[in-house]
Amino acid sequence: MAFADILGHERIVDVLRRSLRTGKTAHSYLFEGISGCGRKKTALALIQALFCSVLPDDACGECPSCRKVANGNHADIHFIEPLPDKRDISIDQLRAMQRELSLRAYEAPRKSCIIEPAERMSVNAANSLLKTLEEPPGDALIILLTENAGMLLPTIRSRCQLIRFSHLSPEHVQTLLERAGIAAGTASFLAPMSGGSMQQAYELDNESLAVRRELVLTAIAKLDIGRIASVFDASEELSGNRDETLELLDMMISFFRDAVHLAAGSSDILNRSVRPAIESISSRHSFNRNLELLNKIYETRYAVQRNANSKLAIDHLLMNIAAAEA
Ligand SMILES: [Zn+2]
Repeated sequence: MAFADILGHERIVDVLRRSLRTGKTAHSYLFEGISGCGRKKTALALIQALFCSVLPDDACGECPSCRKVANGNHADIHFIEPLPDKRDISIDQLRAMQRELSLRAYEAPRKSCIIEPAERMSVNAANSLLKTLEEPPGDALIILLTENAGMLLPTIRSRCQLIRFSHLSPEHVQTLLERAGIAAGTASFLAPMSGGSMQQAYELDNESLAVRRELVLTAIAKLDIGRIASVFDASEELSGNRDETLELLDMMISFFRDAVHLAAGSSDILNRSVRPAIESISSRHSFNRNLELLNKIYETRYAVQRNANSKLAIDHLLMNIAAAEA
């Protein structure tokens, strides 16, 4: 994660890079901002840059150290978060971290530790951290992530350099979603509702996916070649631009793939949460017809990928699905 990959926090990145160049990186930082705004990415970028053996104020991305940080297996980075079945970060976790930080770094110039969410440290854990912040073992770099610095002990706050992260702009959320491989149409739909948080954008994506799945299944169930309007209505409702159409076709491929499995007597299906709707698709046609339709959807996807007119391609496909068995 080079600093260039971080969007929306240019001023913070400038400050951190200057501190790296001048060798004045703080021992303890408190990064405050909403979940999903880029605090952890920035913390990792800072550590990666600090550990990089090539560049003074950024991560080169190529040296062994940069690769290990990127792969999540650098021995000198520690993460402290509540254990899976616990609400808070315990004093035992803090003690283990302190022991670890007191050892020499394995390969990096300094050891480092990210604590998240810092406001969930138990009182004992927070008091124990206080001592570490007063006398950092070795030259350790400790970064606390929090949604609200006001929830931390004032004595912890005063020992850290506070950096406030703003919410991401919708434009930045959209760009980051697209970089993560989400289709442009979906990204532009999610970004304005994300509240400036990538985490919220991903949660919305899951919800909107469930809604869309229902919509597509309902439209397929209503197809009736005897009522051609039903076909064109469905096409109107479901087709969109090229990216949206490809997403629709991917969804239909997964439905008909499941329908083929059910028709073949296998219950190994991907869309378990909508199994009754898949069963009704499957039972409408014979096994061979389900297979044939699956192939037609693949062909349509191939054609749209090669810039066939999306609307016409979907019209044609839905007519095929609606048609009675030949
Ligand atoms: Zn490097």
